[in-house]
Amino acid sequence: DRLSLNVWTGTLDVTDLAVADPSDLSLNLFSAAALRISVSSGALLAKRILIKEVRAQEARYIWGEDMKILCVLYDDPKTGMPDKYARDDLPTIEKYPDGMTLPSPKAIDFTPGELLGCVSGELGLRKFLEDAGHTLVVTSDKDGEGCEADRELVDADIVISQPFFPYYLTKEKMETAPNLKMAITAGIGSDHVDLQGAMDHNIDVVEVTYCNSRSVAEHIVMMILSMVRDYHNQHRIVNEGGWNIADAVQRSYDVEGMHVGTVAAGRIGIDMLRKMKPFDVHLHYFDIHKLSDEVEAELNLTYHDSVESLVAVCDVVNISCPLHPKTEHLFNDDMINKMKRGAYIVNTARGKICDKDAIARALESGQLSGYAGDVWFPQPAPNDHVWRTMPNHGMTPHTSGTSLSAQARYAAGVREILECFFAGEPIRDPYLIVQNGDLAGMGAHSYTKGTATDGSEEAAEYKK
Ligand code: NDP
Repeated sequence: DRLSLNVWTGTLDVTDLAVADPSDLSLNLFSAAALRISVSSGALLAKRILIKEVRAQEARYIWGEDMKILCVLYDDPKTGMPDKYARDDLPTIEKYPDGMTLPSPKAIDFTPGELLGCVSGELGLRKFLEDAGHTLVVTSDKDGEGCEADRELVDADIVISQPFFPYYLTKEKMETAPNLKMAITAGIGSDHVDLQGAMDHNIDVVEVTYCNSRSVAEHIVMMILSMVRDYHNQHRIVNEGGWNIADAVQRSYDVEGMHVGTVAAGRIGIDMLRKMKPFDVHLHYFDIHKLSDEVEAELNLTYHDSVESLVAVCDVVNISCPLHPKTEHLFNDDMINKMKRGAYIVNTARGKICDKDAIARALESGQLSGYAGDVWFPQPAPNDHVWRTMPNHGMTPHTSGTSLSAQARYAAGVREILECFFAGEPIRDPYLIVQNGDLAGMGAHSYTKGTATDGSEEAAEYKK
């Protein structure tokens, strides 16, 4: 029961710990039954520590070890990377509305405002990783048997993927990757990772909380206005050289006075409510946790204790909850039939929260007047996905959270996470979804155990 350790960097979980000379450590080590010691590079070089029992928790990264990072990103523009961008700079944003700081890596090797989320953009990581001796592999070949991502995964230590073009990290894939320590979501929403599998295989899952929440809220407002006013139809008439006003307005309404509700009032949901308030609408929400009286009063919000209660009174229903086993197919025929006839749905959360065929049926029958969003299941959506052709839809590919502005934030967030990981420093709590085999941080707050990746193999059906 005696163990002498030279600790350079990393994390040890220990129980019942005794130290030969407590003054060697500026920590109170005696009272805790289970204790985590985090030391940064060099801090405890050659100190002797007596440990009676070490729980099975290896150091995640040993200083000096070379790692392989697999990064799965979407394809470059068909015409190649732009020589010039539409705008010369991005506005400066200091903080998120709740005071949380933006990603703050020690340095970045990219120009904010440039394409970073595609293969050649590499999230601006190559110099940083290669200078430190690591290997970076970037690919967009992520679906179907024998794809490059699967081949490279087998000896990868870290995998990075974006929700817009997710690398579905199923339990079966994890089993091929014994070295895998961490899955980083360059964005928000880690449902493309089998979270139960990650817990079982001790793979940490982290995301860049808040990085694109406000980008999505802007997209939601755009979609509400364009659907209710029937912008797409009017724009099409102009492009076709027409001028028939009656055709253009027969489905066009004002948003003013409507009841607009959100399923989930998290970072996106609340921002969307704030952005919609000046349109003089009635605002409603459902969430597992109630907002403060102060926020409810500020936005004149009506709280509903169930989704059913909210959809029964709303003209526009926004969906902004995470996808997990409890929200999968929440909007099925049953739920849609409880909505007001002619209501609109905006879903920028995850495609699988809605039953795709039930949505198409409701648009055909007129139970829904419109459905818009940017999230599909799987992604890329097969070419014959019914949402591409159903009537009165306002779908985009998954773009709301990957504007050039958002890319700069999540690329910086990924860099910050990697810097912390290599330095043995804690990753911000709000970024954690799974850690040490359990839900952690934001994950413990907003997700439930289980997986939502079933059926993701259909993404291979998409043909460019
Ligand atoms: P937040 O974590 O800030 O908000 C999520 C909210 O959902 C929380 O308020 C949470 O409640 C609530 N929630 C969880 N489960 C349920 C449930 N069963 N019913 C109702 N509410 C629930 O995340 P964001 O607002 O930033 O993002 C939300 C989701 O949007 C992400 O999980 C992701 O799937 C999606 N997203 C999409 C993007 C895109 O590009 N289209 C980009 C970014 C995110 P509580 O906190 O009270 O537990």
